[in-house]
Formats: sequence, structure tokens, C-alpha cells
Amino acid sequence: MQELFITDNHIHIDLKRGEGLKAAKKFYNSGGRCMILVNKLVKDIGLEPNSVENFERLYNFTIKTAKKIRENIKIKVFVVLGVHPAELYQMYTKLGERGIEIAKEALILASKKVENGEAVAIGEVGFPHFEAPKKIIEVCADFLRFSFEIAKDIDCAVQLHTQSLNKKGYKYLAELAKSVGFNTNKLIKHFANPYIKFCEKLGIMPSIIASEKNIKKALLEGKRFLMESDYIDDPKRPGAVTGPRSVPRVTIKLYKQEILSEDDIEKMHKDYISKIYNVDLD
Ligand SMILES: [Zn+2]
Repeated sequence: MQELFITDNHIHIDLKRGEGLKAAKKFYNSGGRCMILVNKLVKDIGLEPNSVENFERLYNFTIKTAKKIRENIKIKVFVVLGVHPAELYQMYTKLGERGIEIAKEALILASKKVENGEAVAIGEVGFPHFEAPKKIIEVCADFLRFSFEIAKDIDCAVQLHTQSLNKKGYKYLAELAKSVGFNTNKLIKHFANPYIKFCEKLGIMPSIIASEKNIKKALLEGKRFLMESDYIDDPKRPGAVTGPRSVPRVTIKLYKQEILSEDDIEKMHKDYISKIYNVDLD
């Protein structure tokens, strides 16, 4: 048997406050070989999301984290940068239109870092996962449309963070993307429902939280999806979502149960990843 190549499609590592390299090591020791590292919040590096400079600090910190992991642990690390909807919410509430301007400038900066190869995609962008006033939802929708425009221009993927959605919600996201000409084949729904067939029809790539139960449920509909831990590496919220070992553990478990074949794993963890992010995994 060849070594399995296993990718966590959405993970946060916090070198300052969290387990940092230790968490990355846990991922590696459990069989993980590639991670898509998403920036945390500006707040998490001890700053306010009130200037483009602070976003630049957050992005550079995330890029530095990726570099450090690559240097110490033999895995691939690709960076995703964006303005988290919870932070956009706060920025608009505190700063009004100026907050939106800063968020847009921060997103343009993220896209420049994709263009120069420091990052591979834009995210997480979208809507707060908690209930928000109608005006905030409008602000988020406008900002998401803007994000799709930016991503379309540089032909990169977008990772979406949203409230929990039914199929109508997924359809809305696909339509929003299409309305500005963004290719839904580059659209990744982070924390996705197991709507595997429906997403395939829309072009959206679902990224499913790696619990055995979730993945088995998704597999009832098909195999076109990615897996993620959404590990947040926050000592104040231990056990929020899942740990850094979850993606390799569940993948290997299902492989041993002969529910996933080597080919299936290669597709989910390597082929889809390399295609959607336009990265070389060989
Ligand atoms: Zn996340």
C-alpha cells in the first residue's frame, strides 16, 4: 500500500495562543500530509479589526505560521486569507461605511497575496453563523458579491462561512456567485451539510466536518466532497468543533473498514484539492 495522502481542508493554527506546532505535529502523526490553513480573526492576534494594516499583520502572521509548519513538519501547507463575517459584522457596527471600506481593502490585499503565491484562495467570507440583523445580512451579501468579483479576476477559489443553510440557501449562494460571473466550481462551502448530489449540481464543493457519522452520512450521496476539522486551536474553547487529528483519523478508519478505497482517498484529498486551489501536490 502506498502512503495515503490526507488533506484537512479547513484548519486554524495559532502559534501565539494555541497549541501551534504541537497541533500540526498531531495532524502529521495521525497521517495528515496537507493542510489548508485559514486565517483566524484580527482579534486573535490581539488587535482590533479597524485598519487594513491590522489585517495585513493577521495575513502575514498566518503566512509565517504556514512557513514555520513547513520548516518543522514535512507537510504541505496552503494559506487562505479573508475577512471573517463575524469581524465584518463588528466592523460595520462600530465603523459604519468606513468599516466596509476597510474590509474591502483587506480583501484586495488578500487577493494580492494569492497573486504573488503567498496564499491560494480567499476565505472565510460569507455570513455570520449566528442570527444577525437584516442590515448586516445585506452588508454581508454585498461584501460576498465583492469577494466573488475579486476572486473571479484572479481565478482563485473562495471558502464560504455561513449560517446553517437548507438547500435553498445553497442555491442562493450559487446564484450570487453566478450573478457576477464567478465559477461555482471554485466555490467551497466550509462546514457543509451532506448535500453531496445537490452541491454537485450547483457546482459547489462541500467541505464536511470529519466525524465518522458526518462522513458516512455524506457518503450515502456520493464522494465528491472535501474533509475538514475546522480546528480552531483556541485554549479557551477546547473541544469546539473537532481536533487536529480528526481528518486523518476518520479517513484511515473508513479506509480500514473498506468504505473508502485508495482511489477515493486520492480523489478527495489530492485531486480535488489540487484542482480547486490550482496547486501542485506531487
Ligand atoms: Zn474556520
